[in-house]
Amino acid sequence: MSYETIDRVAVLGAGNMGHGITEVAAMAGYDVTMRDIEDELIEEGYEGIAWSLEKLEEKDRLDEPAEEILDRIDTTTDLETAVEGADLVVEAAPENLDLKHDIFSDLEKFTDEDTLLATNTSSLPITDIAEAVDTPERVLGLHFFNPPVKMDLVEVIYGEETADEVAEAGYDWVESIDKTPIYVRKDVRGFVVNTIVGPFGGEPAWMVSEGEATIRQADAAMVHQRGYPMGPFELADMTGIDIGYHVRKEAGDDVPPIVEEKVENEELGRKTGTGYYVYEDGDGPDYEPGDGEGFDTLQVEARMVNRAAYLVGEGVATPDAVDTGVQLGLGFPEGICRRGDKIGLDTVLEKLESLHEETGHDRFEPHPYLEELVAEGETGEDAGEGFYEYDDGDGGLDGYHHLNAAIEDRVLRVELDRPSRMNALSADLLSEIDDLFSSVDTDEIRCATIEGAGDRAFSAGADITGFGSLDPTDAMRVTPAFETVHDFPRPVVAKIDGYCLGAGLELALSCDLRLATERSSFGSPEIGLGLIPGGGGTQRLMRVLGETRAKELVFRGNHIDADRAENWGLINRAVDRDDFDEVVDEFVDDLRNGPPIGLEVAKKVMNEGEDASLEAALALESQGFGLLIGTDDVMEGTAAFAEDREPEFEGN
Ligand code: NAD
Repeated sequence: MSYETIDRVAVLGAGNMGHGITEVAAMAGYDVTMRDIEDELIEEGYEGIAWSLEKLEEKDRLDEPAEEILDRIDTTTDLETAVEGADLVVEAAPENLDLKHDIFSDLEKFTDEDTLLATNTSSLPITDIAEAVDTPERVLGLHFFNPPVKMDLVEVIYGEETADEVAEAGYDWVESIDKTPIYVRKDVRGFVVNTIVGPFGGEPAWMVSEGEATIRQADAAMVHQRGYPMGPFELADMTGIDIGYHVRKEAGDDVPPIVEEKVENEELGRKTGTGYYVYEDGDGPDYEPGDGEGFDTLQVEARMVNRAAYLVGEGVATPDAVDTGVQLGLGFPEGICRRGDKIGLDTVLEKLESLHEETGHDRFEPHPYLEELVAEGETGEDAGEGFYEYDDGDGGLDGYHHLNAAIEDRVLRVELDRPSRMNALSADLLSEIDDLFSSVDTDEIRCATIEGAGDRAFSAGADITGFGSLDPTDAMRVTPAFETVHDFPRPVVAKIDGYCLGAGLELALSCDLRLATERSSFGSPEIGLGLIPGGGGTQRLMRVLGETRAKELVFRGNHIDADRAENWGLINRAVDRDDFDEVVDEFVDDLRNGPPIGLEVAKKVMNEGEDASLEAALALESQGFGLLIGTDDVMEGTAAFAEDREPEFEGN
């Protein structure tokens, strides 16, 4: 049996999830057949795909015409036709075990033995669904998030019988459609993401029910103090209060009285016009930053960290998988394991223990893995080890959480890795950039590139939620990252594809060269927030663009496109997306093969000379010139020139 090659995909269900999964699979080049039970439903799903592709095309986010993608999609109401010759079936029918059993037993009849059978269930155990077939080893969960076209995460879930090669083939397929898979190695209720979101919503609901907090207070504190993208009550209103209610009921968990009350009154959130906030005749979530005062955010976060300890301790997921899951699946500003390590796992444990003692509630019972970490002194970042091990600043390239760094053939390649936040520069990410560029061994590299992960942005700006809670003095400390990059002794190239805004633009400005795809856009939107750029974005912009253009960008706060940016000299080249890597490689090759000391001196003299009088700058230049004359590289350069060959610079 081999699960290696997946060419044909069948998706069962053309509803919310099914049509989205069909779309992303077809976008990645797969032939997909989408099946539903009635022609009308299929038509609706297909139209949904066509509409969405059209939007993507307008935004220049497709690699080929929408028509060609649509051409790869077939539809049918007949199951046998749908799955004939399919290498992978993704079931996205309603959440009902009997129905899924019927579907899977039919699948057993109509598919080859080596067809992967995946279910997109959110809450049913994969193991239970697999009971309908004689070959449960080929059944797995592929849990997409809504809407699949926007959400990058897919949980790849093992049922009890799922074969490793099946899960691996599923994982690889998810990567092949440009999504981010995480392994969920045990079939636990809620998988990874919903296991963590439980206390995010549940604990504040208990606190409000017990009169310890108010709704606005909880939402304001979680958003404005802790940087979550939405307050827990705001989120419940959006997803539907009944959804969380049923999940709790089914799991046999107690339901917080306030949730019970809302469901009884049929105030279920946005969809009914009223939930925790009033939507129809009201202002919706109208909490203000100051409302959060006095809310015990640690009580909520300690419970989420405890859930993470359960997932990691029971071997369900690695800390990395948990953290990727909550960032991509929930838009959390950072991973929950990471956050636990920052708070201190000892602090988290103490909080749980004291709440447990005070209230006797099971929900505060610390998981043994958390106790074990603390007992071993692995209490988090300050201790050098917690869920993660921390870099001791020795210039290693591992141990970063918000960026990826690798040295390939003497090029330091840096990727800002917060795609769920369009690579917004948080204080953590900035400090990692600073740390990396100040500690990396420059002898090993000839140049560096910086790019953004995901397909939307280089970096769309500063992480405003994070900064809102900073003291002004802390906010001023975020700038060294830009200086470190600017002063880095090797040339740094910003590789820009997508948004390059605000602090993202400031980072690009601190690089030496800027290359961008034609679809990219640039701007300093800070003024719209009543702010000014605070990381060099007024001064460097003036030096690069001159006063006229710099003031236009800063004062108006609008975006300019890549053509204008090139025309203005903000970037070196605006390039068609298809040719982008090639053009970047040409630049990088020149820098990689250039004389390291010569480039270092050129960068230093040009950077420093900019702020000196012409006379002083010329003196700097001739000093630099003199310094280079005696080097081996210059000997090599002149010899190669005379011998009409490529020089090989050693950096001596
Ligand atoms: P939906 O109701 O929007 O769509 C389900 C579709 O399946 C309907 O069009 C229905 O006619 C069709 N269907 C019914 N029987 C079928 C059959 N035998 N074969 C093929 N199609 C059939 O539901 P949805 O929101 O797309 O959810 C589908 C699955 O995805 C569920 O298991 C759900 O738990 C899961 N899920 C949903 C979300 C979400 O946010 N909606 C997120 C992740 C996972």
